Amino acid sequence: MNPRVLKVMTQGMIGYLDPDFTKIMDEVTDLIRRVYQTKDGRTMALSGTGMAGMEAGFASLVEPGDTVIMCIYGYFCERMVEIGTRVQANVVPLRADWGAPFPAELLEQELKKHKNVKMVSAVHAETSTGVRQPLQDLSRLTREHDALFMVDAVTSLGGVEVAFDDWGMDYAYAATQKCLGCPPGLSPVSLSERALHVAQNRKSKPFTWYLDLGMLANYWGWGEKRVYHHTAPVSMILALREGLRLVLEEGLENRFKRHVRNAAALAAGLRALGLKLVVPDEYRLSQITLVWIPDGIDDAEVRGRLLMSHGIEIGAGLGDFAGRVWRIGLMGESSKQENIITLLSALEKILPEVGYEVAVGSGVKAAEDALASS
Ligand SMILES: *Cc1c(COP(=O)(O)O)cnc(C)c1O
Repeated sequence: MNPRVLKVMTQGMIGYLDPDFTKIMDEVTDLIRRVYQTKDGRTMALSGTGMAGMEAGFASLVEPGDTVIMCIYGYFCERMVEIGTRVQANVVPLRADWGAPFPAELLEQELKKHKNVKMVSAVHAETSTGVRQPLQDLSRLTREHDALFMVDAVTSLGGVEVAFDDWGMDYAYAATQKCLGCPPGLSPVSLSERALHVAQNRKSKPFTWYLDLGMLANYWGWGEKRVYHHTAPVSMILALREGLRLVLEEGLENRFKRHVRNAAALAAGLRALGLKLVVPDEYRLSQITLVWIPDGIDDAEVRGRLLMSHGIEIGAGLGDFAGRVWRIGLMGESSKQENIITLLSALEKILPEVGYEVAVGSGVKAAEDALASS
């Protein structure tokens, strides 16, 4: 984590009702707006992790019986089904293959079968598959049917472009600990004007008081006057403000390029070791890279040795991909050259020990060459 982020968390506390803190909240909404690239988005930071953002969206924008079409192509998409069911929505899951982008035609066909669709949901960066989902077609179709478009931007915000306005989103949520380089604990969200209208003009109150987006919007200054809702996690908000400032000081474009460049170097290194990537270059996320575990190689053994002997944590496969893939994150602060080189040299040591031969030095060299030529 960036030392500036850690530092603000240890500074003296400011009261959550202090007028100075209100100014900080305003500043945070503004910074979130810039990172979501939105002019009109009603932005705020929910107290809770990315899942709070997901739950708040379904709980606040959907009423019992409303139809929600869910585009599903990974583990986090599947969670939406669970939450949608709990808020008693009429959930229509559209399942497509893991490891590839969701085909917009599926949504197009399904929308034709329904008269009233309240919302369509999708995940932008599916952390379980490493796929970057193109959103424009899904958004266009959703708007043609006058439904709300909800997007999970948990792993995308701060790592790859998220254009809230241009891509026609109505609600998007993220998390501080993925590509924003902050500790976990807040979910920066954005609502379109019509999504906020829906949240504040429901027939029934949402089952949750704490994650009621309509009330929270008033707390974050989007109503006529600010209405106290709950005690803000002050130090988390200070950390987020600093993390967002760092994102914008680097510049969104520069930051995305850094992620792309480092991911390309990692990919070159992994391929030089003979490993196969799960996602084709075109749709591969730069903040998370999935590789197939070679036949006969012990998944947990390799991850264990990386952690115990080299202090490197890589992710295990989730859901359908459990035991079949490794997931290598290069997110935010951690997307840097030294991490790529350290990981590749560790793999060059460990893989032969567990029975997978590699040309020692080839992975590191390929990554270094890629970095030098980019
Ligand atoms: C990590 C993740 C979540 C869950 O976020 P938490 O901060 O762990 O609650 C949701 N969606 C995606 C795509 C994620 O990667």
